[in-house]
Amino acid sequence: MDGTIQRWMLMTHSTPDLKVLVSRKKKQVRAAFRQTCFERDGYACVMCTFQSTPARAEEELDAHHIADRTLMPNGGYVEENGISLCADCHHKAEIFHSTGHPQAGYSLEDLYEAIGSSYEKALGASARSS
Ligand SMILES: [Zn+2]
Repeated sequence: MDGTIQRWMLMTHSTPDLKVLVSRKKKQVRAAFRQTCFERDGYACVMCTFQSTPARAEEELDAHHIADRTLMPNGGYVEENGISLCADCHHKAEIFHSTGHPQAGYSLEDLYEAIGSSYEKALGASARSS
Protein backbone atom coordinates (compact mmCIF):
# COMPACT_ATOMS: atom_id res chain seq x y z
CA MET A 1 0.00 0.00 0.00
CA ASP A 2 1.50 3.38 -0.89
CA GLY A 3 1.64 6.47 1.24
CA THR A 4 -1.17 8.20 -0.58
CA ILE A 5 -3.66 5.48 0.26
CA GLN A 6 -2.46 5.34 3.86
CA ARG A 7 -2.98 9.09 4.25
CA TRP A 8 -6.41 8.83 2.66
CA MET A 9 -7.38 6.03 5.09
CA LEU A 10 -6.27 8.16 8.03
CA MET A 11 -8.18 11.18 6.75
CA THR A 12 -11.39 9.28 6.13
CA HIS A 13 -11.12 6.95 9.14
CA SER A 14 -11.85 4.10 6.78
CA THR A 15 -11.01 1.44 9.33
CA PRO A 16 -13.81 -0.77 10.70
CA ASP A 17 -15.60 1.21 13.38
CA LEU A 18 -16.67 -0.20 16.72
CA LYS A 19 -20.24 -0.89 15.61
CA VAL A 20 -19.00 -3.02 12.73
CA LEU A 21 -16.62 -4.92 15.00
CA VAL A 22 -19.32 -5.54 17.60
CA SER A 23 -21.80 -6.81 15.02
CA ARG A 24 -19.11 -9.07 13.55
CA LYS A 25 -18.46 -10.52 17.00
CA LYS A 26 -22.21 -11.07 17.52
CA LYS A 27 -22.40 -12.91 14.22
CA GLN A 28 -19.53 -15.16 15.28
CA VAL A 29 -21.17 -15.86 18.64
CA ARG A 30 -24.46 -16.74 16.90
CA ALA A 31 -22.73 -18.99 14.36
CA ALA A 32 -20.75 -20.80 17.06
CA PHE A 33 -23.92 -21.28 19.13
CA ARG A 34 -25.77 -22.84 16.18
CA GLN A 35 -22.85 -25.08 15.29
CA THR A 36 -22.38 -26.31 18.86
CA CYS A 37 -26.08 -27.14 19.26
CA PHE A 38 -26.38 -28.86 15.87
CA GLU A 39 -23.28 -30.99 16.51
CA ARG A 40 -24.37 -32.03 19.99
CA ASP A 41 -27.84 -32.96 18.70
CA GLY A 42 -26.48 -34.95 15.75
CA TYR A 43 -28.01 -32.55 13.19
CA ALA A 44 -31.49 -33.72 14.18
CA CYS A 45 -34.53 -32.04 15.71
CA VAL A 46 -34.42 -33.04 19.37
CA MET A 47 -38.21 -33.02 19.77
CA CYS A 48 -39.46 -34.96 16.72
CA THR A 49 -36.14 -36.60 15.63
CA PHE A 50 -36.32 -35.09 12.11
CA GLN A 51 -32.85 -35.85 10.71
CA SER A 52 -30.91 -33.16 8.85
CA THR A 53 -27.27 -33.15 7.72
CA PRO A 54 -24.28 -30.87 8.33
CA ALA A 55 -24.77 -29.49 4.81
CA ARG A 56 -28.51 -28.80 5.20
CA ALA A 57 -28.70 -27.95 8.91
CA GLU A 58 -28.35 -24.20 8.35
CA GLU A 59 -31.55 -24.31 6.24
CA GLU A 60 -33.52 -27.04 7.98
CA LEU A 61 -32.78 -26.54 11.67
CA ASP A 62 -32.88 -23.71 14.17
CA ALA A 63 -30.80 -23.39 17.29
CA HIS A 64 -33.62 -22.25 19.55
CA HIS A 65 -32.92 -20.20 22.68
CA ILE A 66 -34.90 -22.05 25.34
CA ALA A 67 -35.02 -19.08 27.72
CA ASP A 68 -35.31 -15.89 25.70
CA ARG A 69 -32.07 -14.01 24.98
CA THR A 70 -33.32 -11.05 27.00
CA LEU A 71 -33.64 -13.19 30.16
CA MET A 72 -30.04 -14.37 30.08
CA PRO A 73 -26.78 -12.61 30.94
CA ASN A 74 -24.73 -12.35 27.71
CA GLY A 75 -27.77 -13.42 25.68
CA GLY A 76 -27.75 -17.11 26.55
CA TYR A 77 -25.62 -18.19 23.60
CA VAL A 78 -24.55 -21.38 25.40
CA GLU A 79 -25.38 -24.97 24.57
CA GLU A 80 -27.11 -25.37 27.95
CA ASN A 81 -29.73 -22.91 26.65
CA GLY A 82 -29.89 -24.10 23.04
CA ILE A 83 -31.80 -26.86 21.33
CA SER A 84 -31.83 -27.92 17.66
CA LEU A 85 -35.37 -27.81 16.29
CA CYS A 86 -36.97 -28.30 12.88
CA ALA A 87 -39.22 -25.51 11.56
CA ASP A 88 -42.43 -27.09 12.94
CA CYS A 89 -41.04 -27.69 16.41
CA HIS A 90 -39.40 -24.27 16.44
CA HIS A 91 -42.78 -22.72 15.76
CA LYS A 92 -44.31 -24.66 18.67
CA ALA A 93 -41.47 -23.64 20.99
CA GLU A 94 -41.81 -19.97 19.98
CA ILE A 95 -45.49 -19.94 20.98
CA PHE A 96 -44.38 -19.60 24.59
CA HIS A 97 -42.14 -16.62 23.76
CA SER A 98 -44.90 -14.83 21.87
CA THR A 99 -47.90 -15.62 24.10
CA GLY A 100 -46.45 -16.61 27.49
CA HIS A 101 -48.36 -19.89 27.31
CA PRO A 102 -46.43 -22.99 26.28
CA GLN A 103 -47.65 -25.45 23.68
CA ALA A 104 -48.15 -28.86 25.37
CA GLY A 105 -44.83 -30.71 25.39
CA TYR A 106 -42.86 -27.58 24.50
CA SER A 107 -42.57 -25.75 27.82
CA LEU A 108 -39.17 -24.47 28.94
CA GLU A 109 -38.96 -27.44 31.34
CA ASP A 110 -39.73 -29.90 28.52
CA LEU A 111 -37.08 -28.38 26.27
CA TYR A 112 -34.42 -28.23 28.99
CA GLU A 113 -35.16 -31.81 29.97
CA ALA A 114 -34.81 -32.97 26.35
CA ILE A 115 -31.18 -31.78 26.28
CA GLY A 116 -30.37 -32.71 29.91
CA SER A 117 -30.15 -29.10 31.02
CA SER A 118 -32.15 -26.71 33.21
CA TYR A 119 -32.80 -22.99 33.54
CA GLU A 120 -30.29 -22.84 36.41
CA LYS A 121 -27.59 -24.61 34.37
CA ALA A 122 -28.24 -22.33 31.39
CA LEU A 123 -28.14 -19.24 33.60
CA GLY A 124 -24.84 -20.29 35.17
CA ALA A 125 -23.22 -21.15 31.84
CA SER A 126 -24.43 -17.92 30.27
CA ALA A 127 -23.12 -15.83 33.16
CA ARG A 128 -19.69 -17.46 32.70
CA SER A 129 -19.69 -16.81 28.94
CA SER A 130 -18.90 -13.49 27.33
ZN1 LIG B 1 -39.08 -31.21 15.00
